Amino acid sequence: MEQRNKNWLNQMFSEPVLIAGPCSIESEEQIVGVARDLKKRGAHLLRGGIWKPRTRPNSFEGLGTIALPWLKKASVQAGLPCMIEVASAEHVELALAYEVDMIWIGARSTVNPFTVQSIADALQGVDIPVWVKNPVNPDLNLWIGAIERIQNSGIKKIAAIHRGFSSYGNKKYRNPPHWEIPIELRRLLPELPMICDPSHIGGSRELLLEIAQYALHLNYGGLMMEVHPDPDLAWTDSKQQILPSTWQSIILQLFHPQDKKIEAHVSDKLQKLRTEIDAVDFEILELISKRMEIVKKIGAHKFINQLSILQLERWNEIKESRAEKMYSYQFESNFLDSFLGIVHQESIRIQSDIFEELKKQDNSSNENH
Ligand code: PEP
Ligand code: MN
Repeated sequence: MEQRNKNWLNQMFSEPVLIAGPCSIESEEQIVGVARDLKKRGAHLLRGGIWKPRTRPNSFEGLGTIALPWLKKASVQAGLPCMIEVASAEHVELALAYEVDMIWIGARSTVNPFTVQSIADALQGVDIPVWVKNPVNPDLNLWIGAIERIQNSGIKKIAAIHRGFSSYGNKKYRNPPHWEIPIELRRLLPELPMICDPSHIGGSRELLLEIAQYALHLNYGGLMMEVHPDPDLAWTDSKQQILPSTWQSIILQLFHPQDKKIEAHVSDKLQKLRTEIDAVDFEILELISKRMEIVKKIGAHKFINQLSILQLERWNEIKESRAEKMYSYQFESNFLDSFLGIVHQESIRIQSDIFEELKKQDNSSNENH
């Protein structure tokens, strides 16, 4: 059975680590009050926005340095370590001057290697945990690059925050999660703790529970959520912020997998089911390979008859006939689209390879005549 890796985060906190607090700090009373309330309700870390990177100018951009002593006071009074977003070397210096416990790099900063590097330079010789949010665009290497820059500055305690990726026209999520990207990051960097930020993925209160639960099913190490004493009147991100009581009720509803205490009979059953899955996966691969062998023959046939590889009519026919069949299996509709899409892409690649090969053969036989 998989065990969670012992990393710096789960050595420090019980899992899942629960980070909560307002999107923006708006007053001393706000942050002091919400911190006390959150501590009572089981939070482990207090977040609070000091400088807010906003998409459009003339929006509230955070109170800035004036709010730092308020955050520190709230943190000390409540007994909750605090964390803030930094977006420049100057922010790092201020965070250190006010003894903020941890810092994170926001999604709009992770996209920019210059920004990340200047933050990394300011962190030389400092021992503070640094959290790196994913970049706004779905680019895994950019995320890894930011983590490496922070690592190179000598920081030992680094964690990733998955907050979703911006997209044009997606209706359900504010920032669609693309779960496959953080999963791949965890595969590549298994020691790196990873938590989820359902607030910025969902963008609305109704989605928080569903996203948080999904993250725990994927064995994430924690959750960062935006909590505000009066969410409807919040100066930033009001639609996604919740009351401390709502936050607690979400946390209490979450099913938390306890992989560490897995019982032997559960593990046996799981092992049996996994063996079945293994067999099915190998069968699927066998079948796909069989399909591709036919594709090669089709490629040769198209070449000889000077037909183009992509035949849109046939592609439509494939999609429609398979959709009808898939309907009865109750898969999500975009599963079929993605699955057929990549199979078709690979078929086209194989056919174009066949075309190249046959072209070469043709050329060399012409040269020999
Ligand atoms: C935030 O945490 O308030 C924030 C601005 O997040 P992100 O960088 O994910 O947009
Ligand atoms: Mn926010």
